[in-house]
Amino acid sequence: MFDATETNLPILLSIDDSELIHRLLRARLHNERVQLHTASSSKEGLELARRLKPDVILLDLDMPEMDGFEIITRLKDDPATQNIAVIFVSASNDTANRVRGLDLGAVDFIAKPFDVVELKARLRSALRVQHLIKILAQKAQIDGASGLWNRTYFDKRLEAEVSEALRYNKPLSIIVVDLDRFKSTNDQFGHLFGDLVIERFATIMSGGRTSDVVCRYGGEEFGIILPQTTAAEAAEVAERWRNKLAGTTWQDHSGLVLTASFGICDLASLEAPKTPTALFAAADKAMYQAKKDGRNRVEVWPSKRLPILVTGS
Ligand code: GH3
Ligand code: MG
Ligand code: MG
Repeated sequence: MFDATETNLPILLSIDDSELIHRLLRARLHNERVQLHTASSSKEGLELARRLKPDVILLDLDMPEMDGFEIITRLKDDPATQNIAVIFVSASNDTANRVRGLDLGAVDFIAKPFDVVELKARLRSALRVQHLIKILAQKAQIDGASGLWNRTYFDKRLEAEVSEALRYNKPLSIIVVDLDRFKSTNDQFGHLFGDLVIERFATIMSGGRTSDVVCRYGGEEFGIILPQTTAAEAAEVAERWRNKLAGTTWQDHSGLVLTASFGICDLASLEAPKTPTALFAAADKAMYQAKKDGRNRVEVWPSKRLPILVTGS
């Protein structure tokens, strides 16, 4: 069947009480680039849908206990499963059933017994739509100008990373960055040049670990989530970025030096309750301390325990 090592393959879940149908699907989708999972009862199907988050579900209309209409209603009521494309599978060609299924949110209908070519074509079409939906959803979380994640994504991701780090007792740091005297950069060289600076700085910050989540939090303010990273390690990262930005030469503006101020906090340094809001607030405070101390520097919170790590001389 599919190569199990390819984890990026789209996931297809077949919910059908007939083991024969599952065997047929395995045989007929043998060469398709999908991961096929099967569930033989409505209960198992709903559980797998929640756990696997498949791209497409092939749903048998005629099931014992709970019929396909009831199952799709539950899938569409649950935010965790409501975006999964559902294709109904039924031995009946009844128009009323088809209409009801589509009205409940199914994307398509396939008649049993399967015509292999049609099955594959309908599957490909559903997967194509799902792929586009995913891209659109992702686009809504990306800042167009810098290509970085936006604030909506940052807030959501920070919450997830904090609870994961607390659960498994792993380090987690965040960096808050604000460009220095950016208003005067704009005033002196124009807004377009300011935009270019933001782009360039975004590129500098994107060069790190792929696990780092670099976000544009606001205008010239950025937030970076660094999983599995202590404050001391995050300070090294920030110091590298600080140096790179300060050392950047700007075309048509020779001698111009632009800088940023960095604030850092890790979960370990926080007192309970260790919330995402508290973590961000502490890193933000450290950033403001860096501004107060003269800008172009990295400050780790709490500043008394770890005094100014780096001075931007
Ligand atoms: P500080 O060192 O204290 O941070 O001073 P600052 O001038 O950077 O801070 P302030 O908050 O006063 O000004 C931020 C400026 O950043 C004002 C705003 O016009 C500019 N800015 C915010 N977003 C963008 C953007 O997308 N493009 C450009 N060109 N400028 C931006
Ligand atoms: Mg600002
Ligand atoms: Mg600023």
